[in-house]
Amino acid sequence: MMTKRQIALLVDPDPVAIKFMTAALDTLGFEVHARPDLLDDLNWSLDEKPDILILDTTGSNISHIEFIVKFDSFPSHPSVPIVITSAHDRDAEVKRSFDAAVVKSTPKPIELPEFMRRVNKLMGWSAGRRVPKRAPAIIVEDVNTTAMIIQKLLDVLGVEAYICNSKEEFDKHIRVIYPEIISLDLYLPDGNGLEICNQVRAKRKMDELPIIVVSGNTEMDTVVECLRAGANDHISKPIVKEEFFARVSNVLKIRKLQKDLHDQQKQMEKLAFTDPLTTLFNRTYMDMAMQRELERTRRSGAPLGLLLIDLDFFKQVNDTHGHEIGDEVLREFGLLLKNKIRSYDVPCRYGGEEFCVLLPGSTAANVVTVAERIRKACETKTFSSKELKQTISIGTSVFPELSREHLLISDADKALYSAKQSGRNRTIVSLPK
Ligand code: GH3
Ligand code: MG
Ligand code: MG
Ligand code: MG
Repeated sequence: MMTKRQIALLVDPDPVAIKFMTAALDTLGFEVHARPDLLDDLNWSLDEKPDILILDTTGSNISHIEFIVKFDSFPSHPSVPIVITSAHDRDAEVKRSFDAAVVKSTPKPIELPEFMRRVNKLMGWSAGRRVPKRAPAIIVEDVNTTAMIIQKLLDVLGVEAYICNSKEEFDKHIRVIYPEIISLDLYLPDGNGLEICNQVRAKRKMDELPIIVVSGNTEMDTVVECLRAGANDHISKPIVKEEFFARVSNVLKIRKLQKDLHDQQKQMEKLAFTDPLTTLFNRTYMDMAMQRELERTRRSGAPLGLLLIDLDFFKQVNDTHGHEIGDEVLREFGLLLKNKIRSYDVPCRYGGEEFCVLLPGSTAANVVTVAERIRKACETKTFSSKELKQTISIGTSVFPELSREHLLISDADKALYSAKQSGRNRTIVSLPK
């Protein structure tokens, strides 16, 4: 059976980012509409009715904030997830985007498997399909014929490489995308491969990125210097095909083992901190995050908001439609909740049909905006295969504006109780301390 492909709208000024993100999104099953920039006419995307919008904040010739607001409020595609990609995860532009509409941010350089995991999650798809068909690579080589030979060889190994002819070009792209491997020439018109090596190794999270120096200089001193600078291996020119395959395969194999180990570690952590039904954080994580955020608040003076959310008359759902439908509603609500908050907010299942969200940096006014956004989205959505309506009641508190820190939860709980008492399907703010 043919199903309609979902449309991803991708806006990014960098051709490397477009190339690899398009491939990744294609693997996830999207039809990708990519462009380097927003057009002046804000209506263009609205005709395309995308299922997800992925937007680089630096690339727009018009205000992307204005665009997001319009996009988010367009009635034909409610709740389309918006992902901001930025080299500065918490910079002012990204913050303003968060205030403009609900967005997630993915830091640059983009790690494709992580990016795919996030998109997968945002779309509410089950995990699994999240490795790009072809791993991304960057070839730094000023001689085009050589670069193309390397590109062909990597292609045989299932690696899709982008060619940079200069250090300048490489510098630009490495800020944008996280490659699986770098093939590096030593002599470049505007610099030197060793500099690049040192530079990459100094970057956070790039200390394990495989680098293979491919150079005509086979002097032992040079080879040793490359290895000292952090290269994983050295291949001499002219390239011998068999040697190239053997060395690159080795490096990729080791990298894969390293990654598997990291993934296993992450997986264990995730299991310990995740609620299995909704995949939100669990109570254990919430308690830890609360301590961490309170500490940050004490240090920085930035406020910390809290939402306590309880599904209204949820017992009736179970009583009328059975526990399984009840579970489906909880799962779908968990997804809605995640899609209505920022990346650094902490959504958790507090227990049963109660949820809790930590909102770092949010004032009482911000907190009410977020709460009402969630409440309204819930009110208008239909849940489960039975197309059920479900409302929620929300109690909020904010430290230090309205609550003392040790009373943050109990104040929100009291506000939630008031919301229930006064008729449900509403947000009540805790009283000032
Ligand atoms: P109120 O508006 O006052 O909150 O009414 P309510 O019916 O939502 O509240 P009540 O506390 O009476 O019932 C909560 C229900 O949530 C009862 C319980 O069976 C159900 N529940 C809690 N956890 C789960 C779960 O994991 N799955 C399902 N299906 N139901 C759950
Ligand atoms: Mg050269
Ligand atoms: Mg309850
Ligand atoms: Mg309830």
